[in-house]
Amino acid sequence: MSSVNKVLFLGMDAGNKFLIQEWAADGILPTFRSLLNRGLVGDTMSLEGFYEGSTWPSFYTGVTPAQHGIHSLIQLTPGTYKFEHIRPGDFVKCDPFWNHLSRAGKRVAVFDIPLSGISEELNGIQMIEWGCHDGVYGFHTRPEHLKHDVLERFGPHPLIRSCDSFGWTQKEFPAFRNLLVQGARLKGELTKHYLKQGSWDFFGQVFSEGHCAGHQCWHLHDQRQIASITQSASVTEDPILDVYIAIDTAIGEILAHIDPETIVIFLAGHRMAHYFGLQFLLPDVLCRLKVARTPMEVTAEKPPDTVDKLEAVLTWGWRHTPKSVRARLQSLRRNLRGWIDVHQGRPSPMFFGIEPRKSECFLMHNGASVCGIRLNVAGREPEGLLQPGEEAEVFCDQLAQDLMDIVDLDTGKPAVKSVKRCSELYRGKYLDHLPDLLVEWNDEKRVGNTVTGTLDGARVRLFSDKIGVVEGANTYCRSGDHRPEGLFIAFGPGIKPGRMKRTVSIMDFAPTFADLLGVKLPLSDGAPITEILKAR
Ligand SMILES: [Zn+2]
Ligand SMILES: [Zn+2]
Repeated sequence: MSSVNKVLFLGMDAGNKFLIQEWAADGILPTFRSLLNRGLVGDTMSLEGFYEGSTWPSFYTGVTPAQHGIHSLIQLTPGTYKFEHIRPGDFVKCDPFWNHLSRAGKRVAVFDIPLSGISEELNGIQMIEWGCHDGVYGFHTRPEHLKHDVLERFGPHPLIRSCDSFGWTQKEFPAFRNLLVQGARLKGELTKHYLKQGSWDFFGQVFSEGHCAGHQCWHLHDQRQIASITQSASVTEDPILDVYIAIDTAIGEILAHIDPETIVIFLAGHRMAHYFGLQFLLPDVLCRLKVARTPMEVTAEKPPDTVDKLEAVLTWGWRHTPKSVRARLQSLRRNLRGWIDVHQGRPSPMFFGIEPRKSECFLMHNGASVCGIRLNVAGREPEGLLQPGEEAEVFCDQLAQDLMDIVDLDTGKPAVKSVKRCSELYRGKYLDHLPDLLVEWNDEKRVGNTVTGTLDGARVRLFSDKIGVVEGANTYCRSGDHRPEGLFIAFGPGIKPGRMKRTVSIMDFAPTFADLLGVKLPLSDGAPITEILKAR
């Protein structure tokens, strides 16, 4: 079997395959139109139950979250009631495929693959978070001096802060759109430049701009919603379309300069669509079902005076602390503030207002659309309340039934689409890092928010015999969230154009890249995409 010399991977983080195909067919995205005609096109599926932290680690390791250990950027430390902000590149339990390629002597360039860290053993160059939706490390490169070269030639990515941090006034949406369009253009330039710099066996780069646009601007894209916020719509008609056009143009320019012998694989995974998660109501629901308790319930008696005094001192002291000292004291203050909040009966943000020690289950960070629930199990958790085995099993069945019984009073339809056990979906050494139950909300109805200029759909009322009415408003700014379906396009010498009938997993890409370059991955839950390999 001869080894193909060059693989170029281009990703569109959270790109929506339906929009790409629709706008390509309309001629609005000419590059995608041409690629869809000349390439092998296949549907992809991301991981069941996980989006925010798992998608890219599973892409670059080729294994499930139960093997690489990541399901979120905020994870529970097993055996404790502590959540920690993790850095995926350090936390991930398996090697990214580019390490295996490097060990086999392949020259690689890895640019902005989301949620990855700098690889010390890379045989080539790497850039992380020049422009990514999730910022964990900040912009870093390997070798380090590459950073200066990038900044000198291209500057920083125009979107220098988290897309969630914008206030989203009318003025900000067009400015935001411009930053993303400009970012996609610059990333195209940057990719072209470094692609030419070396003879790469593997070159990979991901456009992140569609991810940010999708989360923040879906309401502007969604025509039904545009009708209710005509003012905003008049200034930016569809920022998502504009960003997709910029990415289409950038990809067209990159491809115009590549060696015709290159195998090119494009992937748009875990797409974007309207926001639907009801995570903001789940703590209340669990409390009404009497399977979780708030710190307020736990400390029913009046908190001791000393706590009140400590809080007053902390607030006064902080106002009178110089800025330079504040930075150093930040984490101490956060811990103290968290302790006070719990004693005052206020919800602790890390636990979504639930006191885990006194609850049979609690919430884990897993994104809003599929919520993760952890059972408080004796022997596994420090103060477990549920006995493992039958008691825990019966508890899960009952909880799943109670959640499935809840209806959205607005539509009369079930609010929850499914409740699944993680252990039935995944097997692996790090299953313990993951939630026990995955609660997927019904995505038929768009859930609005109170931030982006309209209250439309922001208020939700849930009902069941057991919970009565639980209601609340969504205060999270995002109007778009993920879905698991994606699309890939592969083309190059010998790849037969056409539409694949089967759906591949995002875990299939790492072994495919490796196979194309004549390298075997030692561990993989995915399988090489034989339809691409046949080309060789
Ligand atoms: Zn996202
Ligand atoms: Zn973003």
